[in-house]
Amino acid sequence: MPCQMVDSFGRKVTGLRIALTPRCNLKCIYCHHEGEVGPTGEIPDEMVVNVARAAAELGVRSLKFTGGEPLLRKDLADLISQMPQDLDISLTTNGVFLAEQAEALSEAGLDRVNISLDSLDSKNYCAITGGKARDLERVLAGIDAAKEAGLVPIKLNVVVLKKNEAEIPELIDFCRRKGVILQLIELLDLQNLGISGDIEGIERSLAAQADSIRTREMHRRKKYFLKGAEVEVVRPMDNTEFCANCTRLRVTSDGKIKPCLLRSDNLIEIGTCNTEEIKELLRAANARREPYFGTVPEQVKHAHNIESSIRQILPKI
Ligand code: SAM
Repeated sequence: MPCQMVDSFGRKVTGLRIALTPRCNLKCIYCHHEGEVGPTGEIPDEMVVNVARAAAELGVRSLKFTGGEPLLRKDLADLISQMPQDLDISLTTNGVFLAEQAEALSEAGLDRVNISLDSLDSKNYCAITGGKARDLERVLAGIDAAKEAGLVPIKLNVVVLKKNEAEIPELIDFCRRKGVILQLIELLDLQNLGISGDIEGIERSLAAQADSIRTREMHRRKKYFLKGAEVEVVRPMDNTEFCANCTRLRVTSDGKIKPCLLRSDNLIEIGTCNTEEIKELLRAANARREPYFGTVPEQVKHAHNIESSIRQILPKI
């Protein structure tokens, strides 16, 4: 299906990211909660199915489930089995419950997973995620189970923090050994925590060591290949190129279409709409898409950021 959603900045929508629940078993110190502001419920299965169908009919090719923690969603495999066949279906998970679900999810039609793991050191892992040492062990088992179940390519998501930047070489080695892609993510420091690691320095060092470098279409992300390891770097902050190459729409865990991670003042409620009606809502959301870091005037950007997003996210943390 050719892409039918192109916004006024010439950006196609080819991906949809759906938060399946606001609930999470971890409490990561930096979590942006997918930009959600006080979610009020959990999107029903029927709405997920209808929005996925509508998106596929408008030329969306990939669907990513997120949360909260999507593996906390009841009957997730059943939900995945109802997704349109031609979509690339992935999810991003903290991996704690992956070992026991990987095979069923794969059989249901899940194609691949991103697993968030910011540290291999149990003390550091617990300090960053609020989890327990046994959670880290379960994540490691989850990586193996995902591989065995064929949920590949697996990406390991690491948000670069002061707390884990010294571990990056070890994480690169780990990913090389496991045959998974390392995705280094710049912290969106929405709460001004001042805990970001030096991703710029890390990227310079990757560039100096790389055997080859590639640039992906989405967000113009750079991929570094070094001695069998593959490292992708995601740097959204103040990055006009990132926004200029954004191909996503989002759906919040309480059923609203969200044109941008960093804005909460332009959401569209799905309500009881059917697939045909949701297509119109997706088109309307596409019309509301604007590059956040770029053409939006500074004072407006600031107002969206402080007033509608951060201040309301803060009380939840
Ligand atoms: N619980 C799932 C997980 O851990 O993957 C899904 C939700 S989590 C919000 C999705 C992704 O967003 C994770 O890879 C996480 O590391 C990333 N993330 C969360 N807060 C972030 C922030 N402030 N800056 C950059 N990435 C963030």
